[in-house]
Formats: sequence, structure tokens, C-alpha cells
Amino acid sequence: MEAIDKLNAHLADVINLSRAAAVLSWDQQTYMPPGGAEARAEQLATLSKLAHEHFVSEETGRLLEAAEAAVQGMNGDSFEAALVRVVRHDYDLETKLPTSLVEAIARETTRAHEVWVKAREKDDYAAFAPTLERIFDLMRQKAEALGYQDRPYDALLDQFEPGMKTADVARLFDELRAELVPFVQQVFERLDAVDHAMLHLEYDVEKQAQFGLDVVKQLGYDFERGRQDKAVHPFTTNFSINDVRITTRYMPNYLPSALFSSVHEAGHALYEQGSDQSLEKTMLAGGTSLGVHESQSRLWENLVGRGRPFWQYFYPKLQQLFPEQLGGVDLEAFYRAINFVSRSLIRVEADEVTYNLHIMLRFEMENDLLEGKLAFKDAPDAWNAKMEQYLGITPPTDREGILQDVHWSAGLVGYFPTYALGTLLSVQYWDKALADVPEIPSEIARGNFAPLLGWLRENIHRHGRKYWPAELTLRVTGEPIQTRSFMRYLREKYSEIYGL
Ligand code: ZN
Repeated sequence: MEAIDKLNAHLADVINLSRAAAVLSWDQQTYMPPGGAEARAEQLATLSKLAHEHFVSEETGRLLEAAEAAVQGMNGDSFEAALVRVVRHDYDLETKLPTSLVEAIARETTRAHEVWVKAREKDDYAAFAPTLERIFDLMRQKAEALGYQDRPYDALLDQFEPGMKTADVARLFDELRAELVPFVQQVFERLDAVDHAMLHLEYDVEKQAQFGLDVVKQLGYDFERGRQDKAVHPFTTNFSINDVRITTRYMPNYLPSALFSSVHEAGHALYEQGSDQSLEKTMLAGGTSLGVHESQSRLWENLVGRGRPFWQYFYPKLQQLFPEQLGGVDLEAFYRAINFVSRSLIRVEADEVTYNLHIMLRFEMENDLLEGKLAFKDAPDAWNAKMEQYLGITPPTDREGILQDVHWSAGLVGYFPTYALGTLLSVQYWDKALADVPEIPSEIARGNFAPLLGWLRENIHRHGRKYWPAELTLRVTGEPIQTRSFMRYLREKYSEIYGL
């Protein structure tokens, strides 16, 4: 396939430039001294510009058309057909936007970040509202430029979850809301049933770090092809299938933070490390969507890391490391503690039970703001009313309400739903893995994660971006994304923990 080879050779420069920018960005968030910020911003801008220009060049368009002609009539499952489909998707995303709009978005979001940081600090939504309105106006222009059939949000969502429609998300969320809101209220009435005070004692950070490293190594994260460092906001990044970095942060007075953040990021990294080696240096390497990516991080964090079998194996080791804090706490009490539910106002602190309600709120507000159904001055009230309706709590300040997340100031509209989609998918994939390999839980209880990782590698990781999310899920589980599995999982697990 000469046309495919030519396309890949041309795109190799784009990939190299982007990966080099990723190295600089990783360094910025881990080791760079504050003095490097200004020069780093310029270096990143130059590399990103070069990558973008190379990608949207007429040369790419020509090579892509030739490749499309060459794969006509080929099996859609083939590497070649998948590559062409993915490159076309990304190429259209980047070329349909006029340069003036790309620049306007970059300018506005750079400025918006500072405005948002200050407004959040001072709990002053009014100071952020005009900026937020401009950003949503730019997002509306972006949606028009990208094009959509039904709703402008479709175009924005497609950047992060290719093929997913606003109507699909709305239907899933309607189903979820109907069951989740009353269930959350039931759990809220029993919050005292779980004691988690022992998690908030003093835990030596060095020991936490060692334990976290041992855990992710045992899960199967390959340190020959990765490493873990500290970052203020934990993230995963990669420069190749064979160099995938994770980060974590340590809190001396809250044990779960570092560990679950390490396991979460390792879940993302296992997906990236698991792409088939034949996809290296092609645009098919990596995760197929943010939702599927999040399904992997949450599967490891929640289904595995907050499950009983995991702690049957790891808890005695953790007790040995922290005898003063945990010596008198039995496994069952610890298991319940790490699964405690709370009336949190803050999304990033939310537990498995309440998390998706935080996401639905943002999805609904994004659509209303985008379609002009909600005035920007009324947005904090709308936020608080939804919090009251879904969680029965009203944020006392906008800092703990509408100003809490960075996404909107960064122009990331359409991004939030992928967190909830990932949560739903994590349970669907987990259920299928257990149906195929019933010994997965008993092997985890012996510290053997290979059967689970092997299943994920075979069914999900190795394909990289070869299948769009909906197709992948259908192939893996035999049905589309749905809410039934997640709700059944929640009910079973939390009815037991909270004695409902
Ligand atoms: Zn994640």
C-alpha cells in the first residue's frame, strides 16, 4: 500500500512534533522551575504551530485523498481503512476551523484562565461572566464551523467522543437521573454508617510513595516503558507506546488521594502502553476516545482498586507499613472506609455514587448556555438549583459551585460527558471480562492482575484508535453503552456497605 506508506511517512513529522511538545509540557508540570514558564510557553507555541501547519497542509489533504481511494472497498477492520478514517476525522476537525477562529479561541482562553483563577479566589462570578459568555460565543462559532445535524453540542462532543450524539448522552443521563437521584438520597440518610476517620490520620509520604509504586508495578504498568513523578494535578502523557508517563500527588493527612490517583493514572497508562506495536508512529496508536480512556482509569481505580479482592491481597501489606494507623482496623472496616460516600459539592472529590450527577449538571448547563436557553447572569442560580435537585445540597459560594472547574475557561465545552460515559463503560467492560474469565477476582485476591490485564489488552488496548468508541463497545460487550450495568453495580455494592 504505497499510498498508506506515503501518508504515514508524511504524518510522522506531525507525530514527532506533537510528542516533542508533550515532553516539554510534561517537564513543565513536573520539574521545570517557575522561571522557565515564559520561554516554555513560546517553545510549546512554536512546536504546536509547526505540528498544526504540517498537519493541515495541502500535502496532507492530497495524500489523504490518495489513501482514501486506495482503501476503497477494503475491509473496514483493516489497519489501512482504520488509519484513513481516523486521519480524515482529525484532519476535518483541524481544517474546518478558520485560522482567525483558532487564534481567537487561543487568545480568549489564555486570558480567561487568569480571569477564572482570580474570580474563583475572590468568589466573584460577576467578574468571570463576560469572559464565560465570550467563550461560549466562540464555542458556538466553532460548532457552526465544524458542522452538525441536530444540535450545536454534537460538533463539540465529537471532538472528544467521536460519533456520540447529544441526544444519546441526554437519553443515558435521563435514565441515570431517574434511578440515581433517589438512590443517592437513600445513601445520604445513612452516611453515619461508615467510619472513615482513620483515612485522615498522618501517613508518611515516603511510605505512601513506595506503596503506590509497588501497587502500579504489580498491576502491570511497565516501568521499562514509563515512570511516575509528582505533579500538582495528576495526569498521564505519552511520547510513544514505549514511553508512557504517569504522575501523582501526596497528601500527608489523606491516605486515599495518592494511591487512587496513581491507580487511576496507571489505568490510562496501561491503555496507552497496550497499543499494538505495529501502531507505533501512526495516528492509530493510543486511546480511541476520552470516554473509553476514562473507562480504563476508572475500571482500575474503582472496580479493582476499591474492590474487596484487591484489598484482600494488599491490605496486610498496607497495615505492615502503617501499623499505628491501621493495626486496629480490620479489612472490612477499611473496605467500607475507602468507599465512603459524602455530600461533596466538588466534582473532583465526589465518590462513585454521586459523581455522575455532577457531570449531568454540567452537560445540561453547557447545552442551555450554548443554545441561549440560559442567561449567563442566571447561570450560578441554575447551577445551585440543579445541585439542590440532584444532591439535595446548595453550594454556599460560587467558588464551591459554578467557579470550581477549569474546563470552561479553557474552552473545553463538550468534554465533561466523557467522564460519565467512561464510568458506564468501565462496568460494562468489567462485567464482560468476568463473564469471559470468571477467575479474575480470585486471581486479584492473590495479587495476580495478569488475567484482567490480558483480557483488556486483547479486547481493548491493542486496537488503539482502530475502532470508534461505539463500535468498540459493541464488539467487546455485544451491546451499546447503557446505564443498567452501572446502576446494578452501584446498588449491589453500596446497599451492602450502607446497609440499605
Ligand atoms: Zn482520568
